[in-house]
Amino acid sequence: MLTGMQIAVIGGDARQLEIIRKLTELDARLSLIGFEQLDHAFTGAVKEKLDEVNFSNMDALILPVPGTDLEGQVETIFSNEKVILTGAMLDKTLENCTIYSGISNSYLNGITKQSKRTLVQLFERDDVAIYNSIPTVEGTIMMAIQHTDFTIHGSNITVLGLGRVGMSVARTFAALGAKVKVGARKSEHLARITEMGLTPFHLNNLVNEVKDTDILINTAPHLIVTAMVISKLPSHSLIIDLASKPGGTDFRYAEKRGIKALLAPGLPGIVAPKTAGQILANVLAQLLQDDLRRRKGKVK
Ligand code: NAP
Repeated sequence: MLTGMQIAVIGGDARQLEIIRKLTELDARLSLIGFEQLDHAFTGAVKEKLDEVNFSNMDALILPVPGTDLEGQVETIFSNEKVILTGAMLDKTLENCTIYSGISNSYLNGITKQSKRTLVQLFERDDVAIYNSIPTVEGTIMMAIQHTDFTIHGSNITVLGLGRVGMSVARTFAALGAKVKVGARKSEHLARITEMGLTPFHLNNLVNEVKDTDILINTAPHLIVTAMVISKLPSHSLIIDLASKPGGTDFRYAEKRGIKALLAPGLPGIVAPKTAGQILANVLAQLLQDDLRRRKGKVK
């Protein structure tokens, strides 16, 4: 339970609603900032304007997945108000107040460091990344179906990278009956690909491995789908680039060659905002409960 904890949920999209639901169920007291257009009311949660918030009793601040922009502005889907998080606000919070976001940037890193508050980036956690790979794969399947005129079953799929997303993508497309090969650069990854019953190849050899590819799915956040690689792809092939912006594909060259290449960021929030919110809510609930236990332990 989170009884006695005072938490501010600042901005965000539908995913935050799952977080609010979960934390109010656990008996936390919530201040909701940037939610005045939300019709739904939650017991134990009060909608407030940023300038009305009493930061001095905050145990935690929860920001949306992107955190803030480089000027401190927080995305607010349920409000027209401009919400800007400042270092002065953090300074007012309790000394052991923790700030949670999905990712961070130089602004958010800067103000949390300056205020000596802990910043937790949920998307850096393995558990969040692995859970998130599930809706990411479902979104990838959706895109593959929408943008091809052939079945996934029986087609040649090349997956680049065997990280948290790459592994789930490779396994699921294989389960749908595709012939999947996976490119990686670590010997243990090549071994794992073999163990999974898929075809491994070293990324150094990528240029020579794509000539039969129907769908190329990249998960490496570096430019590895170069013009040279694209020049070897069959003309009917589709590139789905899952890596974070700007992706790992030479999109300019793909367009020039007439090969469809799609950058597909944020699939969990698009195809399954409820599940994506629940993933964050469950991990956050665990972290906050651990935090509360630690504090109570210290008090004794
Ligand atoms: P991850 O576990 O770190 O895996 C990244 C993979 O890319 C690893 O296999 C890594 O290989 C490889 N890689 C990294 N840099 C490389 C380079 N320079 N050359 C070759 N391979 C390289 O990350 P993840 O959680 O799977 O996420 C992958 C990407 O997808 C990230 O950019 C993430 O932000 C993004 N993502 C997108 C969505 C979406 O909706 N589109 C959803 C979730 C995540 P090594 O181990 O050898 O470094």
